[in-house]
Formats: sequence, structure tokens, C-alpha cells
Amino acid sequence: MKRITILGSTGSIGTQTLDIVSQYPEQFQIVGLSCGSNVELLAKQIREFRPQIVALKQEEQLTALTEAISDLDYTPILVTGAQGLIEVARYGDAQTVVTGIVGCAGLLPTIAAIEAGKDIALANKETLIAGGPVVLPLVKKYGVNLLPADSEHSAIFQCLQGVPPGGLRRIILTASGGAFRDLPVEKLSLVTVSDALKHPNWSMGRKITIDSATLMNKGLEVIEAHYLFGLDYPHIDIVIHPQSIIHSLIEVQDTSVLAQLGWPDMRLPLLYALSWPARIQTDWPTLDLVKAGNLTFREPDHQKYPCMQLAYAAGKAGGAMPAVLNAANEQAVALFLEEKISFLDIPRLIEDCCAHFTSQNTTSPSLEDILAADQYARREVLTKSLKSKIWV
Ligand code: NAD
Ligand code: MG
Repeated sequence: MKRITILGSTGSIGTQTLDIVSQYPEQFQIVGLSCGSNVELLAKQIREFRPQIVALKQEEQLTALTEAISDLDYTPILVTGAQGLIEVARYGDAQTVVTGIVGCAGLLPTIAAIEAGKDIALANKETLIAGGPVVLPLVKKYGVNLLPADSEHSAIFQCLQGVPPGGLRRIILTASGGAFRDLPVEKLSLVTVSDALKHPNWSMGRKITIDSATLMNKGLEVIEAHYLFGLDYPHIDIVIHPQSIIHSLIEVQDTSVLAQLGWPDMRLPLLYALSWPARIQTDWPTLDLVKAGNLTFREPDHQKYPCMQLAYAAGKAGGAMPAVLNAANEQAVALFLEEKISFLDIPRLIEDCCAHFTSQNTTSPSLEDILAADQYARREVLTKSLKSKIWV
């Protein structure tokens, strides 16, 4: 029986993790849950999974939550705000914390969980991208496991089982191509929020769906792969694979290439992050290659999608630059979702923000340096978008 806590339990990652827990109750037990504001769903989850502790971001909603669970025969510990999230992350005897929260807001809770000796099932890539230089030494110091739940990184991790140290030569990340993969580049300036939210293969939260449409998601995943698997950037490639059946590949020293395949279903990487190194038998639909049909590949278009190169550049610059890239992207995507900037403003604002960032400490930034870089980027993107009157 593995005891787990979920940060962001009402989101796409959170609900799919709970789906696994309800399918395999003899394998998994919930210790803590947390969410931003969806009190109704959170109350339902408390009823079903009986967590010991629950965090709610909005303190104002605490009364509504208390009322919604008042008829239960027990009361979980209820905590709120950013501090509440940290308390849930480090609470009790949970062995693994699933990070299904969005953005750099996951950084401090993830650090708290690591310091409490818990393994991390990492969905919240933004935390590692921004905080890699701080998070990785802590993972080592506290002897915990950082288990990738992102589908590409889970694929790489699965392929690496049995590859000896030093055996990995190249990583090939596959990308679906996002909502606009078949749209001519000249039409990108006109796309709307609802166009960008239509992902061809995966059903995910709003922020990551926009990141998929700009291909910044793949750029962020390049940095995520660098931190997780230790390869330098020239050895991490991206290939467009519209069917999302091959979830990523590795090349080993003798040129052999290993891949992990499956239907596009996030429960698979989530389950492996929770069960590793064991394999749990499931009754999920098995892959039928004939039904999958053609598996095709093409080069990513860097002219059409500048975000990938921005991410490579930020990754190579290192230090706090990935934190700047990430926060600029979070802020730009939030403005796009509020319909205040256009789709093509997203890469423009990020590029500008990274270009103006100067850091004293480029090699090994502290947590304070990273948080300051994050704040700088958010401010910069907001100010710039207002000043240049690109708000529409
Ligand atoms: P989502 O928007 O569906 O869910 C986010 C969850 O986190 C919700 O429960 C929300 O209430 C909570 N939350 C958000 N911001 C918060 C904050 N500041 N404080 C407290 N709680 C907060 O997002 P998602 O699609 O589940 O993505 C979660 C993370 O997983 C992201 O980092 C994303 O990049 C990553 N990821 C998601 C998928 C996927 O299939 N959804 C795949 C790979 C990686
Ligand atoms: Mg992914």
C-alpha cells in the first residue's frame, strides 16, 4: 500500500491520479489533497478518499468547504493559502507527493515535500524548470526519488531502466504539434483563445494546452529532460509525431534507439511514477498497432514556433534564466487566456523579457535568486504588454 498526497487534486493530473487510486484501492491510499478553488469537487473527493489533511488556496472558501462536508463522520485538517499548500506537501506519512499544481506556485511546496523525505511524482514541470539548480541538490541531499509523470519523461525513464550509467547518448522528445500544427504560419496572428484550447490528442488544463499550441511545452520539456537525465542541450532533440503513440525515445551509445509506446493516456505515466519500480497489472485498453495505423514524423518548424528556440537558449544560459523564461511564459499565457494579448505576442514578450534579464549569479542561483527572477519576469511582461499597448 502506497500513501500519496496530491497537489492540485481537482485538475486534469489530480483527477486522473484519483481515478487510479479508486481503481486500485488495495495499492494506494490518499493522505492529503489540495486545490485552488473548486470547492464542490474537492468536497466530493474528501467524501470518497477521506484524506487526513486538505489545503484550499482561497481562504474565503473555507466556510463553503466546511459546510459541504459537515455531515461526514470525520473532519480532515483544513489549511489555506500558500502556507497551507506547504503544510499538505510535507504532512504525515505520505511516501509520494504528486505535483499536479500549475506553474512556479509548485516550487515551495515541492521543496517542502522533498525536505520531509517524500518522493515526488513530477507533473508540475514548471517547478523543475525554474528551480532545477535548487531542487536537484535537495533531491540528492534528502535521498528522495524524482519520478517523472510527464508522458515524454516517463517514456525516457522507462527506456532507461536497465541502461547502465553513461549509456545514454541522445534524447528524442516527441511532440504532437499542438492545436495549430496544420495551420499555415500566416494565419497564426488571427487565432483565438478557444482555437488554441483545442488540443488534437490530449485533454489537459488550460495553461499546458496553450503551451502545447505555442510549442513552449516542448521547449519546457527540453529543459525538464536536461535536469532529469543530465544530458546537455545539443543531445536533446524534438521530433513532431502527430499521432502521440511514441511518447519519446532514447539513443544509447551503440546507436540503438529505444522507445515507449501507448495510447495517449496520462494515467499510464502517472501510474508508473507511483508504482516504480513495480509494474501494476491494469485492464486498460492495450495498444493495437494496426488500429494506430501510420506513425509519422517531421521536423519541428522553428520559424513558426519560436518558443522552442527560446527555451533552448534559456536552458543553455542556465542559472536563473529558465526561471525567467518560465515566469514570462506563465504571465504571457495568463494575459492571452484573458484575451489581453494575441497569440503571437506570447513569444515576443518572452524573448524581450529574457533579453533584458541580467543576473549576478549565473551558475548556481539560490532559491531567493530564483524567486526574484520569477518576480522580475512577471513584472516585466505585465509592464511591457501595457506600455506597448498590445492589450486588445
Ligand atoms: P489543471 O489546470 O487542470 O489543474 C491544476 C490544479 O492545481 C487544480 O486542482 C487547481 O485548483 C490547482 N492549482 C492551480 N494553481 C494553483 C495555486 N496557485 N495554488 C494552489 N492550487 C493551484 O492543470 P493540469 O493540466 O492538471 O496540469 C498540472 C501540471 O501538470 C502542470 O504543471 C502541467 O504542465 C503538468 N502536466 C499536465 C499534463 C496533463 O495531461 N494535464 C501532462 C503533463 C504535464
Ligand atoms: Mg508532456
